[in-house]
Amino acid sequence: MYRTHTCGELRLVDTGKTVTLAGWIQRTRDLGGMTFVDLRDRYGITQLAFNPGGEAQQALVAQARTLGREFVVQAVGVVKERESKNDNLPTGAVEIVVQELNILNDAKTPPFTIEDETDGGDELRMKYRYLDLRRPNIRKNFELRHRMAIEVRNYLSAQHFLEVETPVLIKSTPEGARDFVVPSRMHQGEFYALPQSPQTFKQLLMVAGMDRYFQIVKCFRDEDLRADRQPEFTQIDCEMAFVEQEDILNTFEGLAKHLFRTVLGKAFNEPFPRMGFDQAMKGYGCDKPDLRFDMRFHELNDLAQGKGFKVFDEAELVVGINAEGCAGWSRKQTDGLIDFVKRPQIGATGIVFVKWTEEGLKSTVDKFFAPEQIMEWAKRFGMKEGDLLCIMAGKADKTRKQLNELRLHLGDLLDLRDPWAFKPLWVVDFPLLEQDEETGRWHAMHHPFTAPKPEDAQKLFDQQDLGSVRANAYDLVINGTEIGGGSIRIHDRAMQEAMFRALGFTDEEARYKFGFLLDAFEYGAPPHGGAAFGFDRWVSLFGGRSDIREFIAFPKNNAGRDMMIDAPSRIDAVQLKELGLEVKG
Ligand code: ASP
Repeated sequence: MYRTHTCGELRLVDTGKTVTLAGWIQRTRDLGGMTFVDLRDRYGITQLAFNPGGEAQQALVAQARTLGREFVVQAVGVVKERESKNDNLPTGAVEIVVQELNILNDAKTPPFTIEDETDGGDELRMKYRYLDLRRPNIRKNFELRHRMAIEVRNYLSAQHFLEVETPVLIKSTPEGARDFVVPSRMHQGEFYALPQSPQTFKQLLMVAGMDRYFQIVKCFRDEDLRADRQPEFTQIDCEMAFVEQEDILNTFEGLAKHLFRTVLGKAFNEPFPRMGFDQAMKGYGCDKPDLRFDMRFHELNDLAQGKGFKVFDEAELVVGINAEGCAGWSRKQTDGLIDFVKRPQIGATGIVFVKWTEEGLKSTVDKFFAPEQIMEWAKRFGMKEGDLLCIMAGKADKTRKQLNELRLHLGDLLDLRDPWAFKPLWVVDFPLLEQDEETGRWHAMHHPFTAPKPEDAQKLFDQQDLGSVRANAYDLVINGTEIGGGSIRIHDRAMQEAMFRALGFTDEEARYKFGFLLDAFEYGAPPHGGAAFGFDRWVSLFGGRSDIREFIAFPKNNAGRDMMIDAPSRIDAVQLKELGLEVKG
């Protein structure tokens, strides 16, 4: 037996017991005659003490002094109460007086310190991820992930969902990203695509009568990466038959509340608020508003146009936000906001400010507007003394997006985005389609299997006024992060064909790509709908961090590369030949 206890287990009540521990050397301290060693495993740290005494003890002390960081050792000894206790460690009241020490393996000096606060940079930590994962704070992320996965299964299973696995080598499932493809050896020139999601399979499971399906499943999307995106990520994927939108929202609101309660100990007794897509765009400039703070948009076209200020007069939209309590900001601080919105990623031209100080209202456009006119703006925002209005103008969509960035930036500057204050929200009533400005082509806003609202269905068949067709599609947003989304699906062949036509597929293309689904809809497909939730994102949200890589055991870097195993990598000529492939260049 390698050990009798873990390094996180022993307490004062264990005093006097002879125990065997095994783990890694966290550090060694040589205090004159005494040598202390911190031994670490997944469960904690226990202090080993080496007392110089007789000859045997001297030999042990000498051995302890040879221990380097991260050596793997086994120690046998007696549990003793510590003279100077460490209240920061659960095991801090005891130490093991070592009688026998076995070095199970030595270790090179690690390239960074294996502690919560490490000196290792991101790339180095990813290259040696197996060392990074030894750090207690990273390990905690995986304990959290595990607990959440268990609670997801507990909740869904209690609601009669069946966990069913779906294949990974499939055909394209369009979720709006590029596919990763896998060449076939047996069918040269043909390719599998990795699922962007199990969307079509879960719908087929509904046709198959499974009624309620879920899967905690890997999805693959070849798209540009960000802190909250990885090329392979995990979804809690769900589908339900014989449901309306309301049933789905209630079921998954239940899941969210269950996770909040069981994992974080937070009770949400009220229903989550709901907001229409249009309302979200108008009020917050985005479809995933962060409701931890208000700072809602107010439009000023009626009050601010036609008074001779060209920037406003020529704009499609004049819109602003009220930064409460910021009237005292210095010129340098407000210039900082202008610099922020002028960055190329945001691309705005400027901000008009209105301050309300003891001296009254003062704006950067005073020469165009009378004080009473500015007072009308102030009223619209519910502005009071001490506040600062930030107003932007231009094309409506673009200006809303830019003001959204400014709002979030102000939220950060004013510390209004506490990671432990959770504000969930359903965004509903998404448009079914959106048009690409350049090509004029229509794209599915959610995915091509989403049904139009029944009252708008005729427009889809007639290919008329497509921009106004709404869908029973919804997103769960928590703290400005899209945690998941879904929709009521099309379950009728003619409607699905109309949808493909709207998206610019010829009937032949639609049949080639999705004939299996169209066929299935002719064999008694029940009405159905579902949703999927980004599991990595959800875990990172509950872990109080925004970088999902910290919650994925072996993540890829921002260039899609696994730094540890060094993938992607070349394959050899024989393999290429077998696959019937040739690499150019
Ligand atoms: N398949 C969708 C997605 O991955 C979710 C859904 O509609 O259920 O976003």
